[in-house]
Amino acid sequence: MLQLARRMGRAKPSAIMLIAEKAKRLKAEGRDIVSFSIGVPNFLPGEHVYAAAREALSHDSGQYGSNRGSDALLDAFIAHMAEIGLTGYTRANCATGVGAKHVIYNLAEALLDEGDTIVFPAPYWTSYLDIAEIVDAKIDLLPCPAEQDYKLTPAQLDAALAKKPRIFLFNNPSNPTGMVYSKDEVSALADVLVKYPDTWVITDDIYNRMVFDGIGYHNFVHARPELRDRVIFIDSLSKTYGMPGWRVGFMAGPEKVAQAIVTMNSNHITNLPEVVSAAAVAALTGPQDVTREKCAEFQRKRDEVMAVMDSIPGVVCPRPQGAFYVFPDISVAFGKTHQPSGLAVTDDVTFCSALLETKGVACVPGSAFGAPTALRISYTCPTAQLAPGLERFQAFFAELA
Ligand code: PMP
Repeated sequence: MLQLARRMGRAKPSAIMLIAEKAKRLKAEGRDIVSFSIGVPNFLPGEHVYAAAREALSHDSGQYGSNRGSDALLDAFIAHMAEIGLTGYTRANCATGVGAKHVIYNLAEALLDEGDTIVFPAPYWTSYLDIAEIVDAKIDLLPCPAEQDYKLTPAQLDAALAKKPRIFLFNNPSNPTGMVYSKDEVSALADVLVKYPDTWVITDDIYNRMVFDGIGYHNFVHARPELRDRVIFIDSLSKTYGMPGWRVGFMAGPEKVAQAIVTMNSNHITNLPEVVSAAAVAALTGPQDVTREKCAEFQRKRDEVMAVMDSIPGVVCPRPQGAFYVFPDISVAFGKTHQPSGLAVTDDVTFCSALLETKGVACVPGSAFGAPTALRISYTCPTAQLAPGLERFQAFFAELA
């Protein structure tokens, strides 16, 4: 029988989507479901973005575009980076992709030879592992449990880089934990990075505008500008502008790396569509009030979620300061049984499954992110659903014995 390529044996469908599918099925059966499962921002971009798309349609050239991205889009991205203090990048340092996921996938292809090592902290965003497995890289996970606020320490990084991995992949603010590294924490890690010139550094910082409590966004390049020749910064329109389906992602870094992404693009996507590019330029250069309002709203929702997490005995939940996720360690529930359903909670998956079955609340098991003692709550649901969802979460805990 004809076989698929071996790499497909290593490619897995997303665990996040599996829970979302189950929630969808229950909903279709008429159940009242609150979804805390999918990491989508749940808002739409401003009217100026749609106006720009319509305008572009009326002048559509219908032609192939630049493999790197249109000049207008690259310039808008460069100006956008300057707003967060990442200055001095030119078009030659930048490239676009069909979402940040595509850019990261391209980077994995462009930077990793078979058997090279990629190192990243766990909990991690699921696709890091899946992409690394597809390209047949060796994966070195750095465990960062709740007790260390899910954050990587300089000592852990030092030990990992001493083994000369090809890539260190860093995500700040984090999906799934929502944790944000402070200026001092970024600086301490940057001090370690400068000691190890053999490792590329990818900073997947697509939530950089979703930071709370005034702590600000910080990158290794801010702390140690000399790292610029091997730090690759990733950004995306998906979360910041409520445009996940428009599929626009970016990278900025050394010219050689940007050129490699352009070469990859030329061999599969060719270019981002003209209409999408025009909408993206409008999002980046137009009024930023939707993004600011949403960030303030997410901060309020974070407070609401944290008040409930802090009230449940035994749940350990570092306080997130960005993105729209909370990542409680719920291992205190393992070994208990839900009453009256009789459902046993043995691990994160049975916890999430019982929570969905009995209370109609969908969360993603932490094992999807390499942290099987936790689960992820994504709190972008409509505001009116948040409090009832959290009440049910709390009630589920109260019914465990
Ligand atoms: N990185 C992180 C940390 C993410 O959470 C996501 C989306 N869930 C992505 C990258 C991918 O974003 P995009 O929609 O731009 O592909």
